[in-house]
Amino acid sequence: MTALGRHVLVELYQCDANLLNDVVHIETTMEEAASNAGATLINSTFHHFSPYGVSGVIVIQESHLAIHTWPEFGFASIDIFTCGDSVDPWHSYDFLKEKLGASHGSAMEMRRGEMKLLQKSDFEKTNLRDDLEEHREQIVRSRDIWFTERTQDLAFSLKHKGEKLFDKQTDYQRVEVFDTTAFGKMLTLDGMVMCTEGDEYVYHELISHIPALTHPEPAQVLVIGGGDGGTVRELVKHPEIQKVTLVEIDEEVVNASKLYLRTISKSLDHEKVDVKIEDGIEFIKKADPESYDLIIVDSTDPVGPGEGLFTEEFYKNVYKALSPEGIMVTQSESPRFNKTVFQEINKCYKSIFGKESVFTYLGYIPTYPTGMWSFSLCSKGSLDPIKSIDQQRQNKLLSSNKLLYYNAEIHNSVFALPNFVKDLLN
Ligand code: SAM
Repeated sequence: MTALGRHVLVELYQCDANLLNDVVHIETTMEEAASNAGATLINSTFHHFSPYGVSGVIVIQESHLAIHTWPEFGFASIDIFTCGDSVDPWHSYDFLKEKLGASHGSAMEMRRGEMKLLQKSDFEKTNLRDDLEEHREQIVRSRDIWFTERTQDLAFSLKHKGEKLFDKQTDYQRVEVFDTTAFGKMLTLDGMVMCTEGDEYVYHELISHIPALTHPEPAQVLVIGGGDGGTVRELVKHPEIQKVTLVEIDEEVVNASKLYLRTISKSLDHEKVDVKIEDGIEFIKKADPESYDLIIVDSTDPVGPGEGLFTEEFYKNVYKALSPEGIMVTQSESPRFNKTVFQEINKCYKSIFGKESVFTYLGYIPTYPTGMWSFSLCSKGSLDPIKSIDQQRQNKLLSSNKLLYYNAEIHNSVFALPNFVKDLLN
């Protein structure tokens, strides 16, 4: 052996961008590349950066394999570092080139630790690396695979179990379901967390029960967006509600939720619920005036198909479709995460519903960027979420359902805003 190790630096060009952006494919491919070359895997960590890019390292008994991908350039840079003679790094090169769909690649080998430059010391034998044979069975393999939602300045990562339960590129967005270790199954759209089994109840209980208990007779309810079904699940707990019309633009969101997020989607087939796969922007334009008591806008962020759900024209159409005492509730973004949108839509609500008829409230959702999220209750008539609350109905709701977040104290306290939020809104 003339050197301690062989280090092959690989550049792969014109790879398949989707493969380069698929953290599960990258992790399994790198694992196979290592084991095919005869390496013994110790542990690994892989990160998927939204909207795109994967970085990962596999530590092997014989050193490591590492990868960084640039899907937008179809480019992957990989290094394969092996010590000893039992593993051939070039074996992994051919395998990776083929599995990542590279049209061509370049690679060079560096010898690491030239023996003739090294001076063996009398370093205590027992501290040296264990002899593989003795401890092979003790090697407990650990895999860390991370989903990351990232913007310019913030990143939030969740470890998941390495297989994507659902993955479809629809006409509107990328619909994916991961199985996370800390928050259970998670629905993401275009790399943004929509809901997880572990904390969805905060959002869905707050966006539903506060307006439903503020309105004395919420018979006709419209939900725009909300294809995961969580808002609908909470609304059908109110016997006063006669019908919930859900208008969701992307049928694959409903399918993914019915398949893998059953605790969230379980009421989508409820007899009171009518699911329409349509664009909410068009639907509200055609809605009869004064036809809904509650309109809940449970939309994605103002990007992609959800963008049009944050315009003055859309909210004016919602206003028209509300009955005289009707209430609109929206998820109104975060005072910490996208301040400008939070401020602008609040101004827009006040210009349509009147300054005194817009009530902002906050909820704490760990898997949303910064955790602090807002909702806006806009009242067309004189209803006020604190003064008009129906205590009797509230007690009945709480005693007949096991809610995980909403209760009588929460109903009032969510409207108490920190000073910095008040400043943003004034
Ligand atoms: N709780 C999530 C949040 O706060 O981001 C929203 C959940 S729900 C999954 C958002 C839904 O809005 C998505 O299923 C998306 O397809 C839907 N959506 C986006 N734009 C829409 C539109 N124009 N009409 C109807 N649904 C729309």
